[in-house]
Formats: sequence, structure tokens, C-alpha cells
Amino acid sequence: MNKDKHIYIKMYNHEKGNIIERLVEDVIEMIILSQCPIEFNIEALKANAIIARTNLIRKMKLFGGEGSLYHENCDICDGEHYLGENILQKYKALSEKNLNKLEKAINDTKNLIITVNNKPIDARFHDTCGGSTENSENVIGTKTFYLRRVLCNYCKDSPNWQNEIEMDIKEISERLDTRFPYMNATENIRINNFVQDIKRDLLGRVASIKIGDSKFNGIDFKNKLDIDSTRFSIAPERLKIRTRGKGDGLGLCQWGANEMANLGKSYKQILEYYYTGIEIKEIDKPCINQPLKGRILMIDPGHGGNSSQDVIGIDGTREKDIVLDIAKLLKNQLEEAGAKVILTREVDEYVPLSQRVKTANEIRPNFFISLHLNSYHNSSIHGCEIYHYKNDRDSVNLALRIMKILSKDTDIIDRGIKIADFFILREIGVSSLHIEVEYLTNPDREKRLKDKKFLQNISKSITKGIIEYYKY
Ligand SMILES: [Zn+2]
Ligand SMILES: [Zn+2]
Repeated sequence: MNKDKHIYIKMYNHEKGNIIERLVEDVIEMIILSQCPIEFNIEALKANAIIARTNLIRKMKLFGGEGSLYHENCDICDGEHYLGENILQKYKALSEKNLNKLEKAINDTKNLIITVNNKPIDARFHDTCGGSTENSENVIGTKTFYLRRVLCNYCKDSPNWQNEIEMDIKEISERLDTRFPYMNATENIRINNFVQDIKRDLLGRVASIKIGDSKFNGIDFKNKLDIDSTRFSIAPERLKIRTRGKGDGLGLCQWGANEMANLGKSYKQILEYYYTGIEIKEIDKPCINQPLKGRILMIDPGHGGNSSQDVIGIDGTREKDIVLDIAKLLKNQLEEAGAKVILTREVDEYVPLSQRVKTANEIRPNFFISLHLNSYHNSSIHGCEIYHYKNDRDSVNLALRIMKILSKDTDIIDRGIKIADFFILREIGVSSLHIEVEYLTNPDREKRLKDKKFLQNISKSITKGIIEYYKY
């Protein structure tokens, strides 16, 4: 098996406070155990493997998901319910046969997810529908067209097909935060088909009462039930609540899925039954080949225009032109990797710094990267410097990666990553870098910078650094 084809998910570790990369397939094992019994039919387990994978992929930043809501730069954390102690114990207690079954469910559905329009769906499921699943708008308020009501009698043998509990009126009133009227002995209560037609005399004694389908006079009722007086009232104190099904009824009915599998249906047929209009597909290859999918990057070629204060080489090479060339190459390469790229200028024109900042703060890219060439009165000086704003840790991390690759893959030397208080770095509300790629005042480097191939290598290195930063 090719290890590289495996997908890793970023998990926050609470105890150590660090990020751990885990194989998606390993996490799926745990999720399946949290979703359904291992005794389920293998086709039902495969359906669960695909559901688990779909929900994970949908969450992962790598695939454009929102990631963990609680931990930055993570997809999940080790506090997820499916990574809890009881699931871990379940996993450890698996017989060899069941462990093989679990692995088979995952391997036989390798890379498969449930999609609509090529996007992973919100693959909901519940224990037992009790006769029909539910439309999404009745549960979560939004109309999701693949979460439609379907009839299901497959779950009749579920242990949760029917259930009943008893609850005190007092508890019900507390949980619902509602009050039942205090009953006085001379008040009437009617519970349709149970207690009806209570007739009292003028002083409050019950003259007759209908209970169930029989009518009693007050004295008869008092004597038969051996109560103290015909001056009484009736109020319920406990309710018995009978339920059918278990869970919210959204998406796949677990016990129904198992029965379908027992009846010879495949995981595909099962999933297509409970999710309307879906496609089961391999995780989009371009997704894997597009490590920057979902990222928005703003590239800022410095200077531009006629009165530009850019550096000019001894041979007349202009900073504003070279950085624009690099920016365009960078745009192509980053877009190939799946990113959305915006340039602050696409031609040799004057764009005020304040305008660049304004646009960036409107677009709010993941990163804003300014490109420049450096100058020094001593023409022998050369190399790259990268600047970031103080305390911008994300920028430092990105700068480290870019610098490492740039100084390895090209002959540009590392002159350090430094803090700066430049206008753009300070005023922009997102992480940003200012890269002084090379010294144009060094005649030797000026010659190199006129070589398209060299510029290509520079932009490739920067792209690689960005991919490395976002790598999972
Ligand atoms: Zn069902
Ligand atoms: Zn400059």
C-alpha cells in the first residue's frame, strides 16, 4: 500500500497542548464503533465507514472544511466523543474476528465518501426511525435536499423500535419549565376518555363521575376506591410516555440499514435509500492534489507606476517589474495548488499602500504576502530577508518554511527572518509577510533576476513553502 496516498487529520492533544497527525482511516475505526454495534452486518458497517469518512473529510480544513471550532489549525481534538474512554475500551475488547471485520469495512470502502455536487454531505444518522425518517427542516430548521423523509419498516427488530418510560408530573413541569394548576378538592379536571363528566352538588360533593366507559355515582366511587370523602378532585401525577424509534430521524436509520444488509442490500443501496440524490465517490483526486484548496492568498507586488520609488539595478532592471513577474508566476502556481489568489496590481500601475491595505481587509485572505527587491550601497551584499509584524506567529511559521526552501532550492542565501513595523504589516488585519527576495543592487544577482527560469524557481520555492505550511 502506498503510504503517501493516506490522508492525515490534525488532532489537538489536550494533555500536551500540541497537534498530532492521525491517519483518517484510524479515526474512522473509532467513529464506526461509536455509531453502531460491531455485530451489524458487514454491509451496514461499510455504510457506516463511508458516513464516518464523509463527515471527517467535510470537517477537514484540507478539503475546505471549517476544522475544529475550538482549536486553531486543527480538524478535531482528542476530546471528541468517539475518541473517549468507552469507545477506546470497546476497541480494545474487539475479538480478532471483529477487528478484521472493522478493518474490512474500511478497506473495502477506501476513499469513498457521499457527495452532492462533488462536495461531502452532512451524513446524519440515528438509531431507529420507527417507521419513517424525517425531513431536515423539521429537525434542524434548514431544508437539505438529501435529508428527505423516507419510509422505513426495516427497523422493526430494533431494540429501540418501541420504548416507554414513566415520569412524575413534577419532573415534567420542571423539565418543561411549565406549571400545572394546583388542584383543590372541589375542582374538576377532565382527561378525555379517562375522567369525564364530573357532576357536583352545590357544595362541591361529587354526585356522578365517568371513568373510562362507566359512570359511577359519588358514594359508589368513594366506597369502591375506599377514599375518605365524595368531596374530591382528580389530577394526574405520573405520565407514561410511549415512544417508537430512537433519535432525531435524520438521514440513515441504523437498525434499518442493518436489516437492509441482512436482506442482501449492498452498502451502496443502503446509502442511496436513506440519502436522497447522492453520489458515492472517491474523495476528489484534485482535492488531494490541491493542498491549498479553500485558501485565499493575496500577493502584493511592491511599487508600480511612473513615479515608483522602486530599486533600479545598475543594468536598469526595475524592482517593480521583477516583483510583478514573480507575483504572476506565483499566482499561477498557487492556483494550480487550489488556492484563490488575488494580486494587488496586475500591471505597472500606482496603487497606494492604503488602497492595498483596504482591499486586503475587505477580502480577508489567509495570508497577505508583499514582494520586494532590496538595495544596499555595498553592492556585494545579497540574499533574502523576510519581515513579519511582532507576535504574528502564523507569519513566522510561514516565513520559516519559505526561507528554508528558498535557500535550499535556489542559490539565494538566508539573511534572516525579522520583525518590522512596516505600514502594510501593521495595518493589515490578517497574517502578512514582506519578502525582500534578493538584492537588486548586486550586479551578479541582477543578472540572475533577469532570467525567467530563476524567477520561476523563486516562485516555486515560495509556493512549496506555503504548501508546506498548510500540509496535513
Ligand atoms: Zn427505520
Ligand atoms: Zn521595495
